[in-house]
Amino acid sequence: LVARMHGFGTTIFAEMSALAAETGAINLGQGFPDTDGPREMLEAAKAAIDAGRNQYPPGPGVPELLEAVAAHQERFYGLRVDPRSEVLVTVGATEAIAATVLALCEPGDEVVTFEPYYDSYAATIALAGAVRRTSVLRFPDFAVDEASLRAAFSDRTRLVLLNTPHNPTGKVFTRTELELICSLAREHDAWVVTDEVYEHLVFDGLEHVPVATLPGMAERTLTISSAGKTFSATGWKVGWVTGPADAVAAVRTVKQFLTFVGSGPFQPAVAVALGLGDDVYAGLADSLQAKRDLLVAGLRSAGLEVAVPSGTYFVIADTAPLGATDGPAFCRRLPSVAGVVGVPVSVFHDDVEAARTLVRFAFCKRDEVLREAVARLSRAG
Ligand code: PMP
Ligand code: GLN
Repeated sequence: LVARMHGFGTTIFAEMSALAAETGAINLGQGFPDTDGPREMLEAAKAAIDAGRNQYPPGPGVPELLEAVAAHQERFYGLRVDPRSEVLVTVGATEAIAATVLALCEPGDEVVTFEPYYDSYAATIALAGAVRRTSVLRFPDFAVDEASLRAAFSDRTRLVLLNTPHNPTGKVFTRTELELICSLAREHDAWVVTDEVYEHLVFDGLEHVPVATLPGMAERTLTISSAGKTFSATGWKVGWVTGPADAVAAVRTVKQFLTFVGSGPFQPAVAVALGLGDDVYAGLADSLQAKRDLLVAGLRSAGLEVAVPSGTYFVIADTAPLGATDGPAFCRRLPSVAGVVGVPVSVFHDDVEAARTLVRFAFCKRDEVLREAVARLSRAG
């Protein structure tokens, strides 16, 4: 394995899902729902398969999905993107992130991001030969620390890799925080690559602010999303990136040689899903908010300190009251101690001390599963 990939081994999600399968523990580790997305979308995929749409789709994506992504950006955010030149369909957000970073970064360039970070950010930055510069979001409020953010920028900063709503903290960046980040990006003439896969999973009436809607930002922002979270179809791997035509063309050049194309019959099905009514989008957020409340209350009654998330389907708790002193070791024991799997937050940090005993639990599960998990954790406490 090449030196720049040393330390990346097996992802924590694969490790923890394998542990859940092995022990029969309730898997609140890897984030995936245990119910299916909209019926119309599922039927559309079957119809596409039956209609013979099983060969290579066009490189940029099937036309109806490009149109549907553009229509979605306008419908929810008033953003106008040209479906022919400013949208690219990818194999999940994961490929969009990788192709974007590889397309924009020279070796030695610096990428500013927040920690805890989604694991693929660190790996992708390393693959590109770039250098990550991070600013820590601290439990339990995960507020942006202006001084450390400023210090992460330099004359080598090439791009800022943002994620709002944020995995694993559940933080929804405020408009003020985003304005600060964007003003620093403009000052350093950096791109902003913004991973908004949880754009529709926002609670308590809060507003998701897409970075591209901020003044002067559309021309330097690449926005990434995917169907996995919005439509509970994480295995379909349909993602997309939108932004200025020249940057999207650069990403497309790289994407061609990563996967060429992908997800043939699922692309038209996601186009159908994107066009569904507001009730479908709101219904998912409402249902997840209730699940969040259930899990947060349960973790608190098990004696844990919890950071209440405003978005995503993850909640972070401090497991010190359950006897944790080291998150990764504790999470490897948790299936036998409590019959539950969670993910140690420190693996998403360079500064592991910032998250020594923090564990992320996913609440995108049926209520009875969450209730059973909570009961088990309470018995363990
Ligand atoms: N970004 C974030 C923040 C995520 O949590 C995930 C995982 N669901 C992804 C990207 C990857 O998305 P996809 O499954 O569409 O590749
Ligand atoms: N995004 C999911 C999570 O954070 C997992 C994706 C993966 O397994 N790579 O749990």
